[in-house]
Amino acid sequence: MKEKLAILGGIPVRSALLQYGKQWIDEDDIKAVTECLNGDYLTTGPYIQNFEKQFAEVVGAKYAVAVSNGTAALHIACLAAGIGAGDEVITSPITFAASANCALYCGAKPVFADIDAETYQISPESIEQNITSKTKAIIPVHFAGISCDMDKILAIAKQHNLIVIEDAAHALGTAYKEKPIGGISDMTEFSFHPVKTITTGEGGIVTTNNEALYKKLLLYRTHGITRDATQMKHTDQGNWYYEMLSLGYNYRITDLQCALGISQLKKLEIFKKRRKELVKKYDDVFKEWNLLSIPQNPDYSDTTRHLYPIFLELDRFSVGRKVIFDALKAERIGVNVHYIPVYWMPYYQRIGYQKRLCPNAERLYEGLITLPLFPRMKDRDQEDVITAVKKVLNYYKK
Ligand SMILES: *Cc1c(COP(=O)(O)O)cnc(C)c1O
Repeated sequence: MKEKLAILGGIPVRSALLQYGKQWIDEDDIKAVTECLNGDYLTTGPYIQNFEKQFAEVVGAKYAVAVSNGTAALHIACLAAGIGAGDEVITSPITFAASANCALYCGAKPVFADIDAETYQISPESIEQNITSKTKAIIPVHFAGISCDMDKILAIAKQHNLIVIEDAAHALGTAYKEKPIGGISDMTEFSFHPVKTITTGEGGIVTTNNEALYKKLLLYRTHGITRDATQMKHTDQGNWYYEMLSLGYNYRITDLQCALGISQLKKLEIFKKRRKELVKKYDDVFKEWNLLSIPQNPDYSDTTRHLYPIFLELDRFSVGRKVIFDALKAERIGVNVHYIPVYWMPYYQRIGYQKRLCPNAERLYEGLITLPLFPRMKDRDQEDVITAVKKVLNYYKK
């Protein structure tokens, strides 16, 4: 049984829990999926290519390959990049495990570069310090939706002949120097999990401008099998003939999911606008507060935020983060923590990663709390969050 959380003053700010993130599904979405259900294809049908085409256009990429989830997208991107045993892949520790696991799936070694303490994004200087003769790729993660310092990262990649795969699971709708994230580096991955900017239930996509990579992504999505005669070894066979050219997977997404994706994509501008509005309101309230800090948004990032993390200045409180977190939960605010440094995970410790690898990331983690942020949040919901944060932080401040 969960322990009962103590409510400061006896009365919580809200009566019902406010989740930290949630999808926005409307009648049009339901109609789109129903239409697909009434059609001829539930999978491998026309909705998939339509979704890919429209998505690629929105993010300014030539090609897109939609798959069953964001993790699968990262996996096929690593495979297409030729990442394998003996290779090293540099990523951030302040991310979901998938950003590093995808390297492990390929037999490669994730290497964690530290973050910039102001923006919370992977530090180009730390990337450079971690490059060895084995480094094959960089996976920058646009944490919370704020763009990484892409020009610097691309310059490092060029100098050392590395592939860049952006983990943009948080960053649909964000632009770097006025270019949407998605068409900037070799490959970019997005996720359509319900808390992300648009949803397909589960789902993910890889975008690229490179035709050779695109063809590989298609192969790895579908068992390594092709029916494209230009790629086959034997071309004198019948119409039934296909070839398996590499060891791929079944990472297909369904037409049902893509029908939802197409419908969700139509509302991207509305979702972006609302997320930006909510973030501005939070920023206005929190930016001058000395009990906490918030990530700095660099000028080059026109950001659609996925998460709203705050960093508690722990030396200003009489209690630790856990007490503050629990008190916010008791106020029925669905707080969360993004992220525990990936290499702290017992699995990563077991395969040899040491703690203290990335001091900035570890210091950040100790004070992080994610506040609710999703486009369907009402102004009233946001006021509840702000009221609860003020109540709890003022109560526990020194
Ligand atoms: C959501 C997410 C992914 C992919 O997750 P899926 O649940 O597999 O779609 C990858 N990286 C980050 C940083 C994420 O937040």
